[in-house]
Amino acid sequence: MSAEKVKIGVIGVGHLGRWHVQQLKMIDRADLVGIFDSNPERSRQIAGEFSTREFAEVNQLLVHCDAVSIVTPTTTHFEYAKMALERGKHVFVEKPVTERIEQGETLLALEKESGLKFQVGHIERFNPAILALENTIVNPLFIESHRLANFNPRGTDVAVVLDLMIHDIDLILSFIDSPVKSIHASGVPIISATEDIANCRLEFENGCTANVTASRISTRKMRKMRFFQPNAYISVDFLDGSSDVYYLADPRDQNPGDNLAFSLGQIGDGASKKEIRYVRFEKKDINPLNYELSLFVRSILEDQPTAVTLKEAVRDLVVAEAILKNIEEHALLVKTNWRI
Ligand code: NAD
Repeated sequence: MSAEKVKIGVIGVGHLGRWHVQQLKMIDRADLVGIFDSNPERSRQIAGEFSTREFAEVNQLLVHCDAVSIVTPTTTHFEYAKMALERGKHVFVEKPVTERIEQGETLLALEKESGLKFQVGHIERFNPAILALENTIVNPLFIESHRLANFNPRGTDVAVVLDLMIHDIDLILSFIDSPVKSIHASGVPIISATEDIANCRLEFENGCTANVTASRISTRKMRKMRFFQPNAYISVDFLDGSSDVYYLADPRDQNPGDNLAFSLGQIGDGASKKEIRYVRFEKKDINPLNYELSLFVRSILEDQPTAVTLKEAVRDLVVAEAILKNIEEHALLVKTNWRI
């Protein structure tokens, strides 16, 4: 693309869409042309707050755009993403990319045919706590993850696996370059019509195991992922954007980041002596939403691959759907036993 700025519109300006509008206004290489929301009152309110144009029809918005950011409920992502691609617009869509795998596959075919850019809002990839760990998470053999949220009706159009656990599925699959070998999952609906709490154990062919829990009915918030790999334990806190790394090093070696680390003591003797080092990473100066949207804009202007591809998001969906299926089978089994 030869223009200096990407003309971009936002579809859906609820809780998260409002932040998209705010951040896009701050990105130099983006030109926010306007917004569309099926709730005209909300549309008017956000258009007024950010001095942008509100469109009464999505088609009118699309006419003025090179790209769109889709921040509507998950059940509507497919319809808008397909529409945008068919009109020749680049697409940023919030996670999960679609509700069903077939919808994602249809979008993949359209993306390939059109050559347009497509990025999915797996924002945790841009959490400062994860960005700080570049080259630190190299070979996890065990992962423990907890994503616990207070109840909020937003997002309950889909099960907690698609609403919250999808963040962790995406991250884990981006770190473990090996096929999933087996899934054991369970989950239950408590307040809404679909699962509100779920747990799964993913086993990978390379021997790694991930134990993943997500809940949207928790009384306290937690978003943590812990990685265990040979010679290191890494604890990531997505809520406060920090990571703690404990690792074993040869006392004579200086590794990258060691200038920040301090020694917790030594173990072993002679040549096998190891030092236990600890380092805390905090990179609070990054706004993950601004960063991921800036990367999307850059991918269009510089014809680069997007930072989170549609293919990766569909891969995440395949695993999420397998987890949901496993939960269903587990629930059926429980029901059968109960009848006996
Ligand atoms: P929300 O309910 O606050 O906002 C949705 C907005 O879309 C509302 O303003 C609503 O009026 C509008 N809308 C509904 N149906 C529409 C339609 N057919 N056409 C146009 N507008 C429509 O929800 P939210 O929390 O902002 O979530 C929106 C999306 O963002 C969801 O897919 C959710 O999964 C995702 N999300 C992602 C994150 C993240 O961490 N990346 C966090 C929150 C939400």
